[in-house]
Amino acid sequence: MTQAKAYSVDNPTAPFKPTSIPRRTPTDRDVQIEILFCGICHSDLHTARDEWHDVMPTVYPCVPGHEIVGRVTAVGKGVKSFKVGDTVGVGCLVDSDHTCPNCMANLEQCCPNMVLTYNSPDAHGAAPVTYGGYSESIVVDERFVLSIPENLDLAATAPLLCAGITTYSPLKRGDVGPGKKVGIVGLGGLGHMGVKIAKAMGAHVVVFTTSPSKKEDALRLGADEVVLSKNPDEMNAHAGTFNYILDCVSADHDINAYLNLLMHDGELTLVGAPEKPLQISAFALLFGRKKLSGSLIGGIAETQEMLDFCGEHNITADVEVIPIQKLNEAYGRLAKSDVKYRFSIDMASLKSG
Ligand code: NAP
Ligand code: ZN
Repeated sequence: MTQAKAYSVDNPTAPFKPTSIPRRTPTDRDVQIEILFCGICHSDLHTARDEWHDVMPTVYPCVPGHEIVGRVTAVGKGVKSFKVGDTVGVGCLVDSDHTCPNCMANLEQCCPNMVLTYNSPDAHGAAPVTYGGYSESIVVDERFVLSIPENLDLAATAPLLCAGITTYSPLKRGDVGPGKKVGIVGLGGLGHMGVKIAKAMGAHVVVFTTSPSKKEDALRLGADEVVLSKNPDEMNAHAGTFNYILDCVSADHDINAYLNLLMHDGELTLVGAPEKPLQISAFALLFGRKKLSGSLIGGIAETQEMLDFCGEHNITADVEVIPIQKLNEAYGRLAKSDVKYRFSIDMASLKSG
């Protein structure tokens, strides 16, 4: 066991503060990683503030962070896929049971015994729960470690480990590609990755945003059209025309307005995870026999596939790199949708405080 520098919160309203957390000594199949960059996902904020209390209560102290890029500093003697010095990534999962039908189908994110990167019971007993990437190091089973394409900028690659796979997986399953009209709702961390990935898949991409200031950015990021979702005329102009819509919104909003934009047999997938239940009109689904689905990150093999896809297409996140000392300020801005489009923490800053 070693102690690692980290930032944690002690309760839903407390600010982040520097701390020290235990990291296990690598077992035979573990990879020890020096963390270089960690993205800030809105899920980190939901968890730090215990906004998902009814589904996944937060255990404090809490160290979030599941968009991790780093360098291998040690490997267990059974590790085959990685060596010291490799550049690697870790996303939202650090373990699963490896025996259930979902794991057998490379769907570790559906395993009933999956272990999340933070706020999951820690089977290794290093701490009561797992601690995430707002830290100088992490130790992870090699089966949950990803390879990072060499051509990608590391600070901007970290967000692919959650925002990238969370949008890639449903877009691929939604058969998004040439000839398809695809909507991306909410131009935040997930949404802006959704735009880049759907465009690279060849679709006609329409962004829905509540923020007029993001209109030009949406086009620069690859959108073919932008709709201000608070403008009913702009919304109505698209009624019944979408094959597929990906909803990346972090707060309460009217999803019926988007179901109305689907063509018959069209599908809307929720990846956003607002604190409160959403209201759904049955009629918005019945007419046109539309589908409403959800999606949670992706399996490990698919995450590697997404990273390789992003390497081939030169896709990374648009990031604002911050020192970890600016974490509380960054959370304040993230809560107000004031980030273009992902904060990425430069973990070198942790050495100084
Ligand atoms: P984010 O960067 O904060 O982006 C959320 C976007 O939603 C905002 O930029 C904003 O876009 C829009 N929005 C915010 N408040 C709104 C409101 N009241 N009404 C309408 N639109 C609003 O968050 P993120 O990191 O992309 O995460 C988005 C959601 O996905 C979070 O709930 C997160 O927990 C969840 N998530 C789910 C998974 C999964 O596996 N399913 C994985 C990661 C994250 P505009 O300014 O363009 O309107
Ligand atoms: Zn996330």
